[in-house]
Amino acid sequence: MYVDSHCHLSFPELQARLADIRKDMAAAQVDRALCICTTLEEFDNVHALALAHDNFWATVGVHPDNEGVQEPQLDDLLRRAALPRVVGIGETGLDYYRLNGRSVADMAWQRERFRVHIRAALATGLPLVVHTRESSADTLKILAEEGQGRVRGVFHCFTETQAVAEAALAMGFHISFSGILTFRNAHALREVARLVPLERCLIETDSPYLAPAPHRGRTNSPAYVPFVAAQLAELKGMEIADVAKATSRNFEHLFKLPNPELTPPLL
Ligand SMILES: [Zn+2]
Ligand SMILES: [Zn+2]
Repeated sequence: MYVDSHCHLSFPELQARLADIRKDMAAAQVDRALCICTTLEEFDNVHALALAHDNFWATVGVHPDNEGVQEPQLDDLLRRAALPRVVGIGETGLDYYRLNGRSVADMAWQRERFRVHIRAALATGLPLVVHTRESSADTLKILAEEGQGRVRGVFHCFTETQAVAEAALAMGFHISFSGILTFRNAHALREVARLVPLERCLIETDSPYLAPAPHRGRTNSPAYVPFVAAQLAELKGMEIADVAKATSRNFEHLFKLPNPELTPPLL
């Protein structure tokens, strides 16, 4: 019923409990998840999760916060993107939150890394999983410059303003909401979510981080994505089942996966 469009099941705290997490997911009717890559070093592990489980898929990318890791060249991304069950490029983007004493000008390496990922999305036709934190103007500018209006994808774990949401939607991107939507103080974000058309919404956990209320502060897992769906349903004045269905269809459409309800059973 539900899809977690962004989780980090390769992180040790989740991978060590994978069997239990899969049971929890089944009990919560979370039937699919996208395993997000954050370093090239981690990719084989992320990819192995998707190869071993027919309801997991993988992406390839290097997170903007990761320093001291292998710097991806276009070919590093293209080679991995061509492998089975790799359905997206990312997560990638810009993050000016942890400058650690540096200026935005000093983060040119991050912007160049982002450009390499956009070129990979352009070359493969795969959607881009975009992370942006305190950097939305540069994120949108670089996407427009490099994407040539042809790159699609998702702004994940969205926490930006209505204006940023509208700019992302205008570029053809989806918006993904995480457990932050359920946080008591997230009034402004809930107003944004109310206005994003449901056909452009995805839901995610970004687990192990950002567990939704009422589990806030605990280790998150894909099994908690229904709490995000419930919050979105309340904001839209809809049934949770309809939000689950719409966000699942949006996920299939964006990542070009089959709709299981339309896939004829094998005879
Ligand atoms: Zn992120
Ligand atoms: Zn993430």
